[in-house]
Amino acid sequence: HMVTVRYADGKGWYEPRVEARAPIPMDPASAVLHYAQEIFEGLKAYTLPDGGVAMFRPEANAARFAQSAQRMAMPALPEEIFLKSLHEIISIDRQWIPGGEDGSLYLRPFAYASEVFLGVRPSLEYLYLVIASPVGPYFSGGVKPVSVWVTPDYTRAAPGGTGAAKCGGNYAAGLSAQAEAIEHGCDQVVYLDAVERKYIDELGGMNVFLVLDDGSLVTPPLTGTILPGITRDSVIKLAERAGRRVEERAISLQEWRDGAASGRVREAFACGTAAVITPIGTIKSLDGDFTVADGGPGEVTMGLRKELVDIQRGRAEDTFGWVHRVF
Ligand code: PMP
Repeated sequence: HMVTVRYADGKGWYEPRVEARAPIPMDPASAVLHYAQEIFEGLKAYTLPDGGVAMFRPEANAARFAQSAQRMAMPALPEEIFLKSLHEIISIDRQWIPGGEDGSLYLRPFAYASEVFLGVRPSLEYLYLVIASPVGPYFSGGVKPVSVWVTPDYTRAAPGGTGAAKCGGNYAAGLSAQAEAIEHGCDQVVYLDAVERKYIDELGGMNVFLVLDDGSLVTPPLTGTILPGITRDSVIKLAERAGRRVEERAISLQEWRDGAASGRVREAFACGTAAVITPIGTIKSLDGDFTVADGGPGEVTMGLRKELVDIQRGRAEDTFGWVHRVF
């Protein structure tokens, strides 16, 4: 199925509907096709051990969707409509939620400029939709480290740009960098900052953390050029609760490379909704390749992963109130 809600200037959000998933008619002059005014979110619904169904921190996705809307000059969708639309699609497509430990129903809320108008100004009409798709485990047969390519050519976002928004254009702009990573035999691209080409921003679809030899974590700060990952935020809160120091600060590629050589950097991992937490294996760049330790799953990385997945899946106590039960 799909959920649709319309928006018109002066009228607000109206006509919420759940209907059979079908193509959406689009005029060739629909604003989004020309000026890419579009935003989206991604999250999962999954089965709990008692047979219930839950989502992980959907309120955080609602908040980020509102922030993305603000950056893209789009009207904010109230949290209530966002959450209700997810409940609706989960209810009607419940039989598509895979059972078992690892599967989930991936939910994709998105909104785009639907006004038929060829001109550069914010659209006066929008369409919000939610579609869903069952997904299996991200890793079959155990967590595998991701290999990454530090792109010398491309940046993801510049100061003042759209890096902190989850808009389709960011991903279109990342396709060439992703292709470059694949050509170099890597799974994901690492973006450096656009100004000095020196500091790590994030991966193509994940945030980055380093574990230092004193047990502390470091991660690039939210200065507007990276996506404020919900997994990133959860990792910070879990680590801090366990008494670990977490520093959000600029990390240069040089610090990563030198730290790997000296042992100052003990582990590196990436995190995001899809893979949750995954070790970073080989780091390839024009200045040569390196790994942190042996490039395998580190103890802190795997500990955090287990802790987070256990909370998500209802196997550990949810002291932060992150698990949003639908049934
Ligand atoms: N950065 C980028 C560019 C992403 O696409 C994602 C995936 N949404 C993330 C980071 C991780 O964000 P989250 O933990 O909210 O999935």
